[in-house]
Amino acid sequence: MPVLGLDVTVPLADGRRLQYAALDQAASAPVLRQVWDEVAEYVPFYGSVHRGAGHLSRLSTELFEDARESVARFLDCREDDQVVFTRATTDSLNLLASALPEGCRVYVFETEHHAALLPWRGAEVTFLDAPASPAEAVARLREALAAREDDGPALVCVTGASNVTGELWPVRELAAAAHAHGARIVLDAAQLAPHRPVSVRELDVDWVAFSGHKLYAPFGAGVLAGRTDWLDAAEPYLAGGGASRRVLRREDGGLDVEWHTGPARHEAGSPNVVGVHALASACRALAEADLAVLAAREEALLGRLREGLAALPRVRVLSLFGDQAPRVGVVSFVVDGLDGADVAEHLAASHGIGVRAGLFCAHPLVRRLLGEGPDAAAECGAGGASPLDAVRASFGVGTPVEHVDRLLGALAELTGATS
Ligand code: PMP
Repeated sequence: MPVLGLDVTVPLADGRRLQYAALDQAASAPVLRQVWDEVAEYVPFYGSVHRGAGHLSRLSTELFEDARESVARFLDCREDDQVVFTRATTDSLNLLASALPEGCRVYVFETEHHAALLPWRGAEVTFLDAPASPAEAVARLREALAAREDDGPALVCVTGASNVTGELWPVRELAAAAHAHGARIVLDAAQLAPHRPVSVRELDVDWVAFSGHKLYAPFGAGVLAGRTDWLDAAEPYLAGGGASRRVLRREDGGLDVEWHTGPARHEAGSPNVVGVHALASACRALAEADLAVLAAREEALLGRLREGLAALPRVRVLSLFGDQAPRVGVVSFVVDGLDGADVAEHLAASHGIGVRAGLFCAHPLVRRLLGEGPDAAAECGAGGASPLDAVRASFGVGTPVEHVDRLLGALAELTGATS
């Protein structure tokens, strides 16, 4: 699948220019050509959705609503599920957190990305310790749910693929465990959806969240898809135009507001039609692709990278499940005696390679994998790299094998494996 950006060259510290090796696709993936072409075709004609009667407004409304259908098909949603457009996964999970029923208890593994770990502020949250295997994850969840003292509403939030180790989580089994104990489950598919088909029906999850910018569409749009009941019963996530059906001034001077039900309830304001169109276009492109071919290609690149890293003397790959789980193209590692931020800096300046250093917005997990104490200082994002950073290399559908080989060559040089 052709992606854009492979011909970008970057300056190196020694003055040469080199084709950029984008190995940070777990953060944001480059755009698919097909997505870019569809977006470029639409941009000259965009207009405000849902309100205007003019031709362009109708065109945008149609595209916006078609996008919901593309996403629903991409996720193999149930008939009565709804697709709400958000800004990204973080926004989607915060939206769901704002829609929890009264007294809802939330269960989340400490290994989650902060977007899944932190939004449940108003709820009673049980944080589950990192499991050592997929089977232990299921057992641990079962045990926690069985210890529930009431039969009130409960939600489990789980990742499909780790943004740190790339390891796949046993989502279907976790969903079965949740449902057996009367709980619902939301799948954080931010890292899973770009690499594997996600079927709401097959996995039997209640909601799915993912981001367009990790799925080969440019920034700005995300999805929360799934059950309608909690979302329709909740206060609108954003209050404003589009979410309100009727607003009346009361005799006492206040306002009576009747809110929409359905996706519009949580999508107040003028929506990001271009972002949503791009996201839906990426969903269509992936749905049409030969997934077996893509998976085999990814498997080959991943095997090459992992074997290469294993052969390097001072490199340790981070893993929670060892050989007990399949993985997507996301690999984190540390280089003994070297700070991850320095490694990443060197790879960029001397080899034109873009990787990420840090704790990857999953501090409890990465600290555990690094064997650190809980009070090690670290910040997420905004250049806040801790002295104990790991390095993450991640790739996607357009990654050439040369980029993986260049990374391995650079690390071999750095670790003294070659001189
Ligand atoms: N969950 C996972 C597993 C992620 O990798 C990320 C992004 N790194 C997020 C959630 C948050 O996604 P976004 O930044 O697009 O909101």
